[in-house]
Amino acid sequence: MNTPKLLLTTLLIAVAGLIACQNNNNSLGDSKKNNPEFKVDSADVLSEKVLTAEQQAALTPDTILAILKTGNTDFVSDALTIRNTSSRIRKAALGQYPKAVILSCLDSRVPVEDVFHRGIGDLFVARVAGNIVNEDILGSLEYACKVSGSKLIVVLGHEHCGAIKSAIDNVKLGNITAMLSKIRPAITADTQFIGDKTSANKAYVHHICLENIELSIQNIREKSPILKEMEANGEIKIVGAFYEMETGKVEFL
Ligand SMILES: [Zn+2]
Repeated sequence: MNTPKLLLTTLLIAVAGLIACQNNNNSLGDSKKNNPEFKVDSADVLSEKVLTAEQQAALTPDTILAILKTGNTDFVSDALTIRNTSSRIRKAALGQYPKAVILSCLDSRVPVEDVFHRGIGDLFVARVAGNIVNEDILGSLEYACKVSGSKLIVVLGHEHCGAIKSAIDNVKLGNITAMLSKIRPAITADTQFIGDKTSANKAYVHHICLENIELSIQNIREKSPILKEMEANGEIKIVGAFYEMETGKVEFL
């Protein structure tokens, strides 16, 4: 190789290296630079690994809440990067130390892990129409927090919820009747809403959805002494959240 060609090749390699370096920085994204999860494991900042027991123990309920908020910002801005790779599957198979448990509605339009930009081993997700609470859900939440170390319970309702609309319409059908009866107290106890109290009124459906989230949180505190005590001790937080269908944004209540 003659000297001009050698110089040109060296220059091209240097430019390629510079571009690769910039891409690497950009792929981290501004929201992730401030994400507490990445400070926990700064040595391997890009891998977004499955948590170990020690890493889980180092997180606080507020840190986890911040991680979920950052994750939802990624989801809304179409910046999802977590991939459930085969190596992630193998690491998670050794044990699970999820950060949070999400009690979500059954709705197919609410992909819970994606909504918070989380992957395998990150979240417990309990799903039931209308994000209601019953004995089995309470047992699942207690398992997630008391046994498996999750520190945040999020009761996640959503816009245009069919279960809420059916409860407003007082639908009676098979086992759906008993399921909707757990939402009905959010409707019958409400005295605040002024206006058309039908499922055709979007504002009313929205209002009852928020009331129902509150009802579930109240039921968790009243019917689970274990979770109530953990919350009182600051070991866990219990929060409500509302998923906006059109934007994908989660509003924490
Ligand atoms: Zn729903």
